[in-house]
Amino acid sequence: MAINPISLMASPRRGHYDAIIVGARCAGAATAMLLARAGLKVLAIDRKPYGSDTLSTHALMRPAVLQLWRWGLLEPLLEAGTPLIETTTFHYGDDEITIPLASGSELPGLIAPRRTVLDRILVDSARKAGAEILHEVAVGDLFADTRGRVRGVEIRAAGRASLRVSADIVVGADGIGSLVAKCVDAQPLRRGAVSAAHVYGYAPAEPGAGYHWYFRDGIAGSFIPTNDGLACIVASVPTGLFDQRLRLGHARARMDVLEVLSPALAAQAARAPKDARLQAFRGVPGYIRQPYGPGWALVGDAGFFRDPITSHGISDALRDAEGLARAILDGSEAAFAAWQQQRDLIANQILDTTDAIAGFDWTLDDIGERHRRFSAVLKAEVQALAGQPMPVRASKPETYRAPANQDRPPVGAKISRNRTGARP
Ligand SMILES: Cc1cc2nc3c(=O)[nH]c(=O)nc-3n(C[C@H](O)[C@H](O)[C@H](O)COP(=O)(O)OP(=O)(O)OC[C@H]3O[C@@H](n4cnc5c(N)ncnc54)[C@H](O)[C@@H]3O)c2cc1C
Repeated sequence: MAINPISLMASPRRGHYDAIIVGARCAGAATAMLLARAGLKVLAIDRKPYGSDTLSTHALMRPAVLQLWRWGLLEPLLEAGTPLIETTTFHYGDDEITIPLASGSELPGLIAPRRTVLDRILVDSARKAGAEILHEVAVGDLFADTRGRVRGVEIRAAGRASLRVSADIVVGADGIGSLVAKCVDAQPLRRGAVSAAHVYGYAPAEPGAGYHWYFRDGIAGSFIPTNDGLACIVASVPTGLFDQRLRLGHARARMDVLEVLSPALAAQAARAPKDARLQAFRGVPGYIRQPYGPGWALVGDAGFFRDPITSHGISDALRDAEGLARAILDGSEAAFAAWQQQRDLIANQILDTTDAIAGFDWTLDDIGERHRRFSAVLKAEVQALAGQPMPVRASKPETYRAPANQDRPPVGAKISRNRTGARP
């Protein structure tokens, strides 16, 4: 008897989904969890293994921690051994300012969970809510009907036949290199002008350590306490300097940067085992993309990227996951437009204030003011998040209806068109 190759790979339980999400990390797994909690039939697909690491440091700012707390996930993260961070210290040259993090807030502090922990807990809670999540399976393409409306995804595994799975909406939560954004030709609404490079590794840290952010002319660094008694230690420089000095042999160059920032920080980094791996990110200018169209939406880095120097990407991903979930559950064009309006308002402010730091055109006299501007944006964001209701389905339709943005012009020359227009 011939064996169907599809049956050999992790495959979806078949049938039609209310939403298919490409990417199952902080944006994708959070969106899947919120939609499944509201009763939708959801499939999320990620080509990377369950619980795997990714190229990202993981200092969470207050909006991310607030979201995780509202969703009931702060406790599991703390129970997984993620240390509570109670202070943050800014080092401007030789001056330092320490700020207590719990004051005036219902949150006990901040956290910086490894992505192996955060993404796993988001995936677990999405599954617990009923979402189907497939790992080590790649989406290779989208398909659309004759009017250009996205109708589903083609999933592929090496050497095996591809499989089409249909959905009312396909969400691209597939990061910077988003395949979904490419397939639908999501238009850039704005492009940032600067980029910074970040080289990081892990070293043992003392219990109870706080966040530390270091700045000297033209360079920056950070100390981020995380799981397993470790801290993530980052050297950040303009991309131009990275190309000149760090690209080849970045271990020594990273230590040189840390040494200039603070000999104590360099000494901490030197506590890492000699063979400890470093990760390097050369930098990408920020962008804001059109986040939705007929049968598709983008969330997380797929729709909006800002330099990591302000540690706000995960906050953006979680906030937008909730905003998008609310729009999908409502299903109307007006709900998607309102979500985009809110997203663009905050994304533009985050991009402005992040680029003001990632551009490295500051001096030690004005960097503090730039941080205060960023902090004011964060404060407004937290206030807005705290007042949001949890996403719920407005009514319980027999069959979930797709967003009403069907009559927009067809998109995505790269999407395979279903010639009959019928669902596969
Ligand atoms: C060096 C660096 C440091 C950072 N530090 C911080 C920080 O300290 N704090 C912070 O808040 N943010 C930080 N960020 C930003 C943060 O990492 C991102 O904003 C966040 O990861 C976005 O999450 P996401 O779910 O949108 O995308 P990702 O985390 O990139 O996940 C996308 C997923 O989609 C999957 N995927 C892609 N294509 C396909 C496909 N075709 N089929 C199936 N799966 C697919 C990928 O395998 C991946 O798992 C940092 C980023 C970088 C690069």
